[in-house]
Amino acid sequence: METQNTDKIQRDGGLPSPWQAELTGPALKTGFNNSQRFDVIVVGGGITGLTAALSLQQKGKQVLVLDAHRPGYGTTGGTSAHINTFADTTYQEAESGFGEEGAQLFADAVNEGHAVIKALIDQHNITCDYAEKNGYVYAEDEDQVKQLEDIYNSALKVGVDMAYETEVPTPVPFQQAVIIPGQAQFHPIKYLQGLLTAFEAAGGVVMENVLADDVSKEDETLTVKAGELTFTAGAVIYATHIPPKITSFSFRCAPYRSYVLGVKLKDANYPDALIYDMQEPYHYVRTHEIDGEQLLIIGGNDHKTGHDDPEKAFEDLEKYTRQYYNVSSVKYRWSAQYYIPADGFPYIGQMPEAPEGVYCATGYNGNGMMLGSIAGKILSDLIATGESKYKEIFSPARIKPITGFTEFIKENADVAYHFVADRFNIDETESLQGLAPGTGKVVEVDGEKIAAYRDEAGKIHALTPVCTHAACIVNFNDAERSWDCPCHGARYDIDGKVITGPATRGLAKIGN
Ligand SMILES: Cc1cc2nc3c(=O)[nH]c(=O)nc-3n(C[C@H](O)[C@H](O)[C@H](O)COP(=O)(O)OP(=O)(O)OC[C@H]3O[C@@H](n4cnc5c(N)ncnc54)[C@H](O)[C@@H]3O)c2cc1C
Repeated sequence: METQNTDKIQRDGGLPSPWQAELTGPALKTGFNNSQRFDVIVVGGGITGLTAALSLQQKGKQVLVLDAHRPGYGTTGGTSAHINTFADTTYQEAESGFGEEGAQLFADAVNEGHAVIKALIDQHNITCDYAEKNGYVYAEDEDQVKQLEDIYNSALKVGVDMAYETEVPTPVPFQQAVIIPGQAQFHPIKYLQGLLTAFEAAGGVVMENVLADDVSKEDETLTVKAGELTFTAGAVIYATHIPPKITSFSFRCAPYRSYVLGVKLKDANYPDALIYDMQEPYHYVRTHEIDGEQLLIIGGNDHKTGHDDPEKAFEDLEKYTRQYYNVSSVKYRWSAQYYIPADGFPYIGQMPEAPEGVYCATGYNGNGMMLGSIAGKILSDLIATGESKYKEIFSPARIKPITGFTEFIKENADVAYHFVADRFNIDETESLQGLAPGTGKVVEVDGEKIAAYRDEAGKIHALTPVCTHAACIVNFNDAERSWDCPCHGARYDIDGKVITGPATRGLAKIGN
């Protein structure tokens, strides 16, 4: 396997995606007056945060964007960047949880999210490889054929264009398929940089390497704390993919890692379409030209963060790819995180457990290009006018039974289990001598449990293994050399620094 460019910036603390090449260069520095009170502070510079920030700035608000790393570092830098008219929560599931009207609003939001992206590309002349393609979903067995029928019928009900199709540009044998016109793809980081340029041109301010760890309210002023720094505003948006700290979202959103390869083929069989199977876990393929070269982007093999073996997920994905495609080399492999919402719909709006004026957007499943874009618009509208047609349906304060949404329940009854069981499952006999270079494990040394990682030079990096978010025990992710929490998905680098929230504090170092 060809190795990927290691000079490219690390994203999400893991393996960089091909989009990351656009993130090289010096960190952004923007003029900032610390005593200034902003109209809005947007915490997080992914697709959600920058869409909201640009929209608000264009409405005449003075907006500050803070990012713990830099814009594009989060999942928007590790996405596979499909723009769809359908979502992981099927319209049938949407209807069973939220009624016909709710399913229709969900379809409207997904479509409008796509329209927001298109409009911003046009308005700001963003060159980001945007291209419209046909989408295909195919079924490989009788059960999947039945599910596909449900998807087809419920999509038609909410006005999503879909038709049965016999020809699909895939080498995988299938029984039944649908074609979905009007899908699209783009380069997410080129797009984000277009938003960033427009935002700064409109007078917006960005600060990088600022991890917000608290927000409080006095009179009409919200204060965001980031270590020693404080920033003030009239409204705050947590566009951090998952709000930090222990909140109800820790229990309403389940974190998943998802895997992607960027593959060169020996032949020219790159599909000119977005293609999805219906396996569990699923696979998808599309093509993207990077640096003048065609790449097959193939992904899937998702699992709950901190569970299963990331290296094996990559291996299985590569095996699957080689089974169906004539692979010349695997140029990129990367992974990123998404959040499955308990009832299938995203949470967008006033944050229930925060002071009034603190908003959040989370729980997009694998559909954050459209849902992050519409969230940016919804939050901008709510802050500017107090109104949005999606205010109620996506309200984070909604209380919905989650019994119908089996995907969430199936894998998330385990948080309490991990909280207790992991404390007793630590390998008592493992010693530091047994730890090979480049590997990590929670071990017990002299009666003390430590998260130990041995680097290539033989040095041990020892940390307390207790996640600072909700005190679960972290697991080592060998593919990305990170410590991942199996409960709520917080991730740390080998020196304990927070890679991904909801944690806001790092793992304490032991002895070095
Ligand atoms: C492998 C994979 C493939 C995907 N493919 C698709 C797809 O094809 N189509 C689709 O629609 N969706 C897809 N998704 C989902 C989509 O990528 C995400 O939903 C979306 O990128 C989330 O964007 P965001 O702006 O909300 O969060 P992010 O992009 O994660 O941005 C959050 C930002 O907040 C910052 N931050 C976090 N905490 C703090 C803090 N405390 N203080 C300051 N800053 C903070 C981070 O540094 C980061 O820059 C995929 C997801 C994965 C994992």
